[in-house]
Order: sequence, then C-alpha cells, then structure tokens
Amino acid sequence: MIIQVAVPFRVPKLFDYKIADADADRVVPGSLVQVPFGSRLTHAFVLGFSETSTISDTKLKSVEAVLNESPVFDEKMLEFLRWVSAYYCHPLGETIATAVPKDSWRVRKRKTRAITSDPTAGLRPAHSERFELTPEQKQVLDEMDRHGHEKPYLLFGVTGSGKTEVYMNAIERFLNTDQSAIVLAPEISLTPQLVGRFSDRFPGQTAVLHSHLSPAERQREWKRAASGEARIVVGARSAVFAPVKNLALIIVDEEQEASFKQEDSLRYNARDIAVVRAKICGARVVLGSATPSLESYTNAKNEKFHLLTLKKRVLDRPLPQCQFVDIKNNDQLVDSHTPWFSKPLFAKIQDTIQNGQQVLLYLNRLGYAHFLFCHDCGHTEQCRNCDISLTYYRTPPRLKCHYCGASQAPPQTCSQCSGTHIIPMGVGTEQVEQALKHFFPKARIARMDRSVIKNRKDLEEVLQRVADGRVDIVIGTQMIAKGHDFPGIALVGILLADASLNIPDFRANERTFQILTQVAGRAGRAGHAGEVLIQTLNPDHWVLRAAAEHRSEDFYREESHLRQMVGFPPATRLALLRFQHSNPGTVRRFVEETVATLAKLPGAKKCDIVGPAEAPLAKVKKLYRWQCLVKCSSAKELRALLIQIQQFVDRKKSPVQFAVDVDPVTLW
Ligand code: ADP
Ligand code: ZN
Repeated sequence: MIIQVAVPFRVPKLFDYKIADADADRVVPGSLVQVPFGSRLTHAFVLGFSETSTISDTKLKSVEAVLNESPVFDEKMLEFLRWVSAYYCHPLGETIATAVPKDSWRVRKRKTRAITSDPTAGLRPAHSERFELTPEQKQVLDEMDRHGHEKPYLLFGVTGSGKTEVYMNAIERFLNTDQSAIVLAPEISLTPQLVGRFSDRFPGQTAVLHSHLSPAERQREWKRAASGEARIVVGARSAVFAPVKNLALIIVDEEQEASFKQEDSLRYNARDIAVVRAKICGARVVLGSATPSLESYTNAKNEKFHLLTLKKRVLDRPLPQCQFVDIKNNDQLVDSHTPWFSKPLFAKIQDTIQNGQQVLLYLNRLGYAHFLFCHDCGHTEQCRNCDISLTYYRTPPRLKCHYCGASQAPPQTCSQCSGTHIIPMGVGTEQVEQALKHFFPKARIARMDRSVIKNRKDLEEVLQRVADGRVDIVIGTQMIAKGHDFPGIALVGILLADASLNIPDFRANERTFQILTQVAGRAGRAGHAGEVLIQTLNPDHWVLRAAAEHRSEDFYREESHLRQMVGFPPATRLALLRFQHSNPGTVRRFVEETVATLAKLPGAKKCDIVGPAEAPLAKVKKLYRWQCLVKCSSAKELRALLIQIQQFVDRKKSPVQFAVDVDPVTLW
C-alpha cells in the first residue's frame, strides 16, 4: 500500500511512501506518521492512499512508524488548508504544520508539568451581569437569524455600542445544539476582562488559545476544543485553526487589526481565512469593528458582506467630544522644552485629576527620544545591524534598536566628529512620563508601552491598577487603544495626531483614522461624557477631522476614492515579493533576475509590477532587503503569476531568502 503525505517543511511537493498493510489499516487522512526524509526522520501528515506511485518501487521509502492514529485534522479542515496553501502560494506541508503545531499533538516524553493555572479560572470579569439588549443590538441579532450563513457579516458598531454583547448572544443561539464557535481577537486584547466575559457567560465550555500559554496548557486547551468539551474557543490569530467540532460561528473582533496577519512563514490573515473556513463549514462569520478595514467596508458596500450597524453607544451614552489644539502655535505651549504639551491640555488634565477622574494620553513613540542628534555634524547613531536610527532611553541610559533588539551605551561624544553637543530629538513615552511627574508631582502615573509592559502579567497588573482607580494618568502607545475597557477615563489626550500620517504606507490615512477613533473611544464609557483633546500640526487635515467628528462614512468614501486613484487595495489585488540576504550584491542581482523573468511571463501584461526597489527598511538584522509589488485586478490572475515566479525561484535554489506576501499588511 502507498500513502501520500505532506512533510512539515517548505518543500513544494507531496511525497509517497510505502506502508505495511497492518499499519495502513490503522491510519486515515489526518493521521501522523514518521518517515525518513533526506538524512533524517520527520513526522508527516497522511493525506491519502493509493495502490501505485509514479516513483519506482525500488526508490520508494517506507513509513518508519505510526505516530498518531487519530487524525489531527478532518476532511473539511484539509479542504480549508489546501485553500490556504494555494491562496498564499505556500507549501501544503508547512501550512498544515502551522495549523496543527507540534504542541497540539505531540506525546510528551517528559512527565508533563502539573498544570497549575487554568487560563480561564479565577478571572474576575468586570461585567458579569446580563443586560437588556438595546433595540439596535436586538435588530442586529434578528438580522443574523434571518440571513443565517448566506454571507459574512460586517458588524460596524461605534466604540461602546455593545458589540461583545452581540457576539455572546450570537453564540448563545447555538449552545443547546452540539455546535461550536471561535472568537478571534487581537493578542493584546485577550485580557482576563475579555476572556472573562466569555468564560463567565459560558462556564466550563470556553477554551483559550494565545501565544502566552505553556506548551502543556496549549495542548490541554487544544484537546478540550477537539473533544467538544469546550465549545467556544477564544483566541488570537492562530485560533482560526482551532479543531472545534461542528463549527457554527466565527467572530473576528477588531477585524482591521494588523496583528491578524502573520508576518513570517505562512503569511496568512486570520480575518480573511476565517471567512473561507466559515464558508467551507457552512458557518456564520461576523467581522466586528468600530473602524473596519477598507477592504471589509468595501465588501459590505458591494454586498459581498452583509452590513450590520450599531450607531449608538449603549445606555444613550454620548460619543466623546473632540477638540483640536494647534501646536504649531508656540503661544499654546506650556514650555518651549516640551513642544508636545499645550496649555489647554495641561489645564484639562489638572481639572480632570482634581475631580478624581482619570486621564489617558496617547503617543505612539517609544523611549525617551526618537534618536540622538549631533548638533555639530548632524550625525545620528544608527544600528549596526539595521538601517534605522537607534531610540534613546534615559533610565537606564541606552540606545536601542526596535528591529533587532541590539542595545548599546549612549555615546558621550559623537562617533563621527567627536562633537559634544549631542541632543535627544523627538519625544517618546518615557520623556512624557518624566515631564508629567514634574508638572503633576502628586499624580499617580502609569506608563503602558512595550518597553515597560513585557508580558501579560505586567499588562494585567497595570490594567487592574487603572480599573481600581489607583492611577490618575496613563501614558501609552497603541497598546492603550486596543479594546481595553477603562471605565474611569474622562479625558483622552492625543499628543501628536499627525505622527502616523506620513509613514510610507498606503494605509497611513486608514491607520490614523482607526487609531484616533479607537483612542478617542476610550473616553467616557461609564456614564460621564468623555472629552478628547487632539494636539496636531494640521488641525484642518481631513482624516483628523473625520475621526474627531465621528464621520466615518465620509472617511471611507473619500479614502476609497483615493485608493481607486492610486490603485491600491481594495481597488486592486496586491502581493509583495520579498527578498533578503546578507550580501547586498547577491540579493540585488537575484531580485533583478527574478523580476525580469516575472515581467516576461505571459500573465504579466495584466499586472502592474512596481519595482524592484530596496525595502523602505533596507537592512534588518544584517540582512539586505529588496522588494517588488505586484498589482492585479484579478486575484486569480495574480495567483497564477505568483505560482510561476515561485517555481522559478525554487528551480534557482538561490541562497537569497524569498517570500511571497499575498495581501501584505506591512510594506516596509
Ligand atoms: P464595544 O465592544 O462595542 O466597544 P462593549 O461590548 O465592550 O462595546 O460594551 C461596552 C459596555 O457596555 C460594556 O461595559 C458592556 O458591558 C456594556 N453593555 C453592552 N450591552 C449593553 C446593554 N444592552 N445594556 C447595558 N450595557 C451594555
Ligand atoms: Zn537593529
């Protein structure tokens, strides 16, 4: 008997092996076997059986052992994984290995450490009560019942409109059957508060999957899902592959989030493939957001998705009032040394904390200063591994690279000219925290960014301190904007609203609109009307205006129009070819050869090939990076071209690392 298997590596083929009849009787598609591969043994996924092979009998190797008889995926899952593999031009074996990681099936040799913590136990959800649904919430649920799984749903609901309550009610619909649901949320939002809301409503039936579980915990949660004991899986991006039984519903909360996209190996977007998995399983899928991606919004406009809206906050709470402060105007500043701090913001912070309420300040820049600048020669210290200037931290004094993690002591004198006038340029959260301590000596200040919040425990600890009212001012990066519920925040200050408008990314406007709306949405969620102060150099910028005035329809209409004009998604389909190597000449020669080949392919005429060019981040971790954009109006034609170029690269066996990134999210 011969079986066909996929090995868990980046090889673009499936393989045949001989298997003894007795063993063949034990395995089914989805079983795991051990096979000789090259000079080693590896596990492999069984895909199918046949009597014959195109490989001659003498060359055919034999299965070494059966590792796992019971299948780690079923037929529908395999159909789904084949789709994912084809769409992202990624080998099936590595695609399966991503979906079914070793942790989930490996028989552990060492005695498993006793599991002390149940990830869902002991959570104290902030909202265990059950509400009377608002008329809007009811209407949305009715609409879903009417339309079932005929189309994906986009739930477009303003911040604080009660989307989570809608998700839980949608899940409840299935609870008395033996069906299951998957809830995907960005990793950072999977706090005890959020998970607790689900595990509290569905006790004993909720499994949690995120990247901070120990292997033993992950295996246990995986098994609970696979056995049907847990019918609701709440997790980050990879939970889209959770092995639930009878999938009836997938929810993707904050569907626009970049973290749903995996940025290495299999570069999938969990949001997009959730739609595919739901379709294959005949399940409903709900993408929810206060600020949907332009892609999903367009799908709703084109009636590929069914649009559901929640226009009001629950309990008739008003949306926050936003005001601009033009910080170009020096008279507005508290002090010339803090060009990021205006008098109106100062006064509002003072009032707010005097009233015993909390303030949230947002600045998406880490460290004390952006970089160190030599006033004598203009030099800035660069990372030795990456093409980027180093961020300056003051306590303790360090220069750090955010891409490779390299760090060094800040120089006393300029490394180029030995000048001594080295000045920090551009403000970061550390500097803001220090200045706040100076301006508000009695205030209790918490900082939330990834240089101080290193793990879930740190995050949960600070969120708890804020929730308990033990913090007056929170200063943070986008970490603060992501779904956390801060009921006591009365004032939100956005320190530099324009910071993200000029990044070299066609989504700069969209990202800015989303982050402003989300940060502003943290204000005034528990009764009192929230206030938002937006400091900016461009108080008339249309994106800032649309966000401040809650005119999302206007934003989406205008931005859709711009994407049409420049030919970027969703107006076109996009793929990014990525090349990197430690030798700049090697990568350059290879990229030029590859793109020249690409341009000559028959399908290339229908595509727009932009590049090749050095990546905006031309060097990371000592690797030189090049890229090439391919745009096409048809996803199918684009894929046909990508397959051919992948085959060309495979044949070349070049040492240059090559990756196809379909629907790229990060373009630098
Ligand atoms: P969103 O995810 O849309 O921002 P949430 O689901 O977090 O909103 O809901 C915001 C707040 O309103 C939460 O504290 C939630 O418990 C509460 N809430 C949700 N639905 C209702 C309702 N029908 N009545 C009263 N409060 C509600
Ligand atoms: Zn670096």
